[in-house]
Parts: sequence; structure tokens; C-alpha cells
Amino acid sequence: MQNTHLAFEPAMRGMTVGQVLESNLEGYEPGDRVTGMTGWQEFAVGDRGLGKLPNGVAPEMALSLFGATGITAYFGLLDIGEPKEGETVVVSGAAGATGSIAGQIARIKGCRVIGIAGGSHKCDWLLDEARFDGAIDYKHENVGERLSELCPNGIDIFFDNVGGPILDEVLACMAQQARVVLCGGISHYNDEGGARGPKNYFNLVLQRGRMEGFIVMDYLPRWGEAIAQLGAWAAEGQLAWRVDVQQGFENAPRTFLRLFEGANVGKQLLKF
Ligand code: NAP
Repeated sequence: MQNTHLAFEPAMRGMTVGQVLESNLEGYEPGDRVTGMTGWQEFAVGDRGLGKLPNGVAPEMALSLFGATGITAYFGLLDIGEPKEGETVVVSGAAGATGSIAGQIARIKGCRVIGIAGGSHKCDWLLDEARFDGAIDYKHENVGERLSELCPNGIDIFFDNVGGPILDEVLACMAQQARVVLCGGISHYNDEGGARGPKNYFNLVLQRGRMEGFIVMDYLPRWGEAIAQLGAWAAEGQLAWRVDVQQGFENAPRTFLRLFEGANVGKQLLKF
């Protein structure tokens, strides 16, 4: 690497953990483990946004809890959602990398947390390991009916990873001054016609609510704060997380598609 602050120009964006092979950059030696946005490639040249992996932090942890998804959960829930003790928080994509951490942060902040996920195995994990207060299996249950049962006083915060019909169902159940945190909309990423608008958005007018999107990269200067706090909560045994490691560079596209099939259990990673 040259000390000229080269940006990586990956074929496909993605965070990685790798090893330094050659370096002209002070403080970086061959063999050092580094993490950064080097993308889907086996070799990369550059230094911008690269950091050394602290001793004792496994690559899987660096890319999940301390990676972009854990940090997204942290700032999305805390900065955009602004949770208050006693509030009801609903999370979609709740058993995934981002959603599972967002829901657990809400629980740590004293909220009642309901997760929406696909399949009883994911819902069981939410209740047993992530210690959510309720879970809805959207593939086998009526989401609207279950939300009414589990959130009789309405929903104060919705941390949304999926959009589409689930967003509509939740919008119909919002409490006064509710906040909808628009983290993602995976249900329509592959729609050729683009996302359609939420049918029940007008309930936000009636409930004096707001809906706000965010991008985790805007928080880059504050990532250290998130990593320190997530690390402290993990050390106290307050956070459960899982990784799903697939193998082989040739399987990168196939591994990516697992996110859209819900085949991943926890943070989707690829080792090569
Ligand atoms: P993930 O939640 O670990 O995996 C994606 C999950 O989405 C799947 O396991 C699946 O879970 C669910 N899903 C897929 N298709 C669905 C559909 N049609 N309807 C409902 N659920 C569906 O992935 P992640 O990396 O943590 O990302 C979660 C979301 O956060 C994504 O939308 C991503 O784009 C967004 N994100 C945003 C930011 C930001 O800065 N705003 C940063 C990172 C990620 P089920 O089995 O439960 O269906």
C-alpha cells in the first residue's frame, strides 16, 4: 500500500476482514489483520477507511456486531428512533443482522420489543436468545391481527428493514408521536418497477408521527462510539448475535442471494 490515501474501487461494495500482504504505510505490517470496505475481491490496494482489527476480536465479530450492520442498528435505533423507557418497539427483519441488534438495543433501553421474522425457528431464537417480548412469523401468521394482540396501545417505534406489506400493517397500528425508522426495504429491492408507496402512510398524520431514513456511512466519524457501547453490552451478556458463514469466492453471488430468500441465520458472511 502507498501512503497516498487511496480509495478502494471494488467491483461490488462490501466490508471485509483481510490480511496485509505488502505495506508502505506506517504502522501496517505484513500479516496485520485489517478491516474496511475493500469489496468483493481477493486482493485490494488502498488505505482509505482501513483499520486494524484489535487483538481478541474475531473476524466474524468485526463484521457482524462491530461491523456495518451492528452500527446501523445502533444509530438507527438510538439517533433516529429515540427510544424512551416503556415504549413499544417493533422491528422487521428482526432475526437478521441489523434487526436483531436494533431490537436488543431497544430492550436494553427499557422498551417492549416485538420482532417480525420469517419462520418459527427465527421467532424462537428472538424469544429465547435475543429476549424479545414477542415475535410474529409473517410467513405463517396474520401480521395485522398479531400486532393488535401484542401492541394494544399502539407502536411507538418501528425499525423497518423490509418495507412493502409489513410496513403497511405496522403503519396502521402506530401510536401518537410514533417514529418509523427507515433502515431498509429488502422486500422491494428486486422490484423492477421500484417500490410502491405505503398505503397507510396517512396514519402518521393522524398520529402526529414521523418517518425518517438514514444511511450508516453518514455516521462514520462516530463509529467508534457505537463499537465501544456495543462491546460493553456484549461483555455484560446483553446481546446475542449469530453469523452465517458460507465458503468460497465463487459462491459470492449465491451467498448474497441468501439474504433475499431469508436463508441466512444472522449476519451473512463469506470466507475465502
Ligand atoms: P439480514 O436482515 O441479516 O437479512 C435479510 C433478511 O431480510 C432475510 O434474512 C429475510 O429474513 C428478510 N427478507 C428478505 N426478503 C424479505 C421480504 N420479501 N419480506 C420480508 N423480509 C424479507 O440483512 P442485513 O444485512 O441485516 O440488512 C437488513 C436491512 O438493513 C436491509 O434492508 C439492508 O438494506 C438494510 N441496511 C441499511 C443500512 C443503512 O445504512 N440504512 C445499512 C445496512 C443495512 P426473514 O427470513 O425474516 O424473511
